[in-house]
Amino acid sequence: MSDCILKIIPNAPMFVPSLQAINSLREIEIDIFSHADGVEHKIYEHIEFIDQGSNFERIICPICSSEISMDWWQDSMDRAYTSMFVCLDIETPCCKKACNLNSLKYEESAGFSKIAIEVLNPKENIKKNEFYLVEKMLGCSLRKIWAYY
Ligand SMILES: [Zn+2]
Repeated sequence: MSDCILKIIPNAPMFVPSLQAINSLREIEIDIFSHADGVEHKIYEHIEFIDQGSNFERIICPICSSEISMDWWQDSMDRAYTSMFVCLDIETPCCKKACNLNSLKYEESAGFSKIAIEVLNPKENIKKNEFYLVEKMLGCSLRKIWAYY
């Protein structure tokens, strides 16, 4: 059987919430995600590419909306990996503008982070007000990644 994982990550790749913030989140997420199979906090030593699994369709330039080739993206990922994804700076291949790998438009959404809140098989989307609450608790803006495996 395939799994759906809702991954919630900070928009800023370097951002890691305080341990206190993460612990207080544990208290409310049981209620927020009571319909899911479980919630896990993944905390990584280095910045990781938080992927969308088989939900990966394409990558779009956020500046000129051109589709970005997978070969170019893979090369850029290899280069960024040499800095452990600390440096994500790129020049877009289409319109030659300064950008970064975290700002590309991934379809479906993806991103770079040292932490991910993973909700296993949620039966429903997180409500807007609860999403804002989680942002407030962690002290950062967040993005949602719907991953399928
Ligand atoms: Zn472009």
